[in-house]
Amino acid sequence: MGAFEARLAALEGAVGAVAFASGMAALVSTLLALGEGGGRILASSRLYGGTLDALRSFLPRYGVHVDFADALDPVRFGKALRPETRAVLVESISNPDAHLVDVPELARIAHRANVPLVVDNTLATPYLFRPLEHGADIVVHSATKGIGGHGNALGGAVLEKGGFAWSPELFPALHEPQRILRRRESGEPRSFLEASPQTAFTLRLRLTHLAYLGAALGPFEAFLLVNGLVTLSERVSKQVATAQRLVERLQDHPKVAWVKHPSARGSADAALAKRDFPYGAGAVFSFGLRDHNSNGAFLDSLGLFSLQANLGDARSLILDSPKTVHSELTPTELHEAGIATGTLRVSVGLEDPDDLWDDLVQGLDNI
Ligand SMILES: *Cc1c(COP(=O)(O)O)cnc(C)c1O
Repeated sequence: MGAFEARLAALEGAVGAVAFASGMAALVSTLLALGEGGGRILASSRLYGGTLDALRSFLPRYGVHVDFADALDPVRFGKALRPETRAVLVESISNPDAHLVDVPELARIAHRANVPLVVDNTLATPYLFRPLEHGADIVVHSATKGIGGHGNALGGAVLEKGGFAWSPELFPALHEPQRILRRRESGEPRSFLEASPQTAFTLRLRLTHLAYLGAALGPFEAFLLVNGLVTLSERVSKQVATAQRLVERLQDHPKVAWVKHPSARGSADAALAKRDFPYGAGAVFSFGLRDHNSNGAFLDSLGLFSLQANLGDARSLILDSPKTVHSELTPTELHEAGIATGTLRVSVGLEDPDDLWDDLVQGLDNI
């Protein structure tokens, strides 16, 4: 576990890291710690379905409330900050429609309110984007996805840049003396910030949320995730190249109505992709058939793509997003999250790109 934390911290440029048993455990622990006691989280409305559901229906029961706004428009997004806001949460590449956000601009907005910017960097992985280098303060990962890379281990992590100015008014828990942090010599209790000024937040997560909720990463999972990191660059660079080829070809197919990916023609994210994602903007894209009533028949006829809810896997995966990973959302919420009816989400794996294309074409020919 220590090896996994240290290597992921090195990749993300973080000074502190805590591993968790899953991405959701990492994310929910982070939001509970930041928003406790009636705080609010200002969140992008384009987030992973489980995150949206936790923010809407789970965290408010524990006194952590949420305001959603569209992070693609940072100025309007910033107007949704309130005096009770304790953190800003976005995904660097959103799930499922692969939109990019302006992390430096969102960091400036969060910092004006003296709160940290938390970035879920799951779809990007640190190979494609390192949020801490662009102004973010905390990075959260579901290591279940591209970091492990084989769909064989659940895991998560929280990483801290260090040096955030935690104000005592907004974040009193980091300033209060803790009996678990007594000085060895005098027995005098210290605060998390006194005990570890650079990594107070992750130290607190480790000693309280991880210890008391118990969602610790298992040693075998840590071993699998460390092995995943060894091949991260090789896997992700091939997956991104294949994704770009499939996007390019799909957008010209007569049975395809639209394709969303920063590399797609006319994408609103092209400028951000060019500025911040020199190695490509991920291997997850979505598309819609002209006749989305054919989704079922299309999916059934695919041979090489698996119908699985994971992503970042060695195998190529596809699913009907509104019917599976975003099925908790109402039609209005789906609209706010930018998820069109019939959205097919693809996570490109390591198969031969031409074999994948042939499979998509025979599936499209079948409908
Ligand atoms: C999958 C996912 C999560 C949750 O991770 P688990 O490891 O499945 O709990 C969080 N955020 C994003 C963007 C994800 O894709």
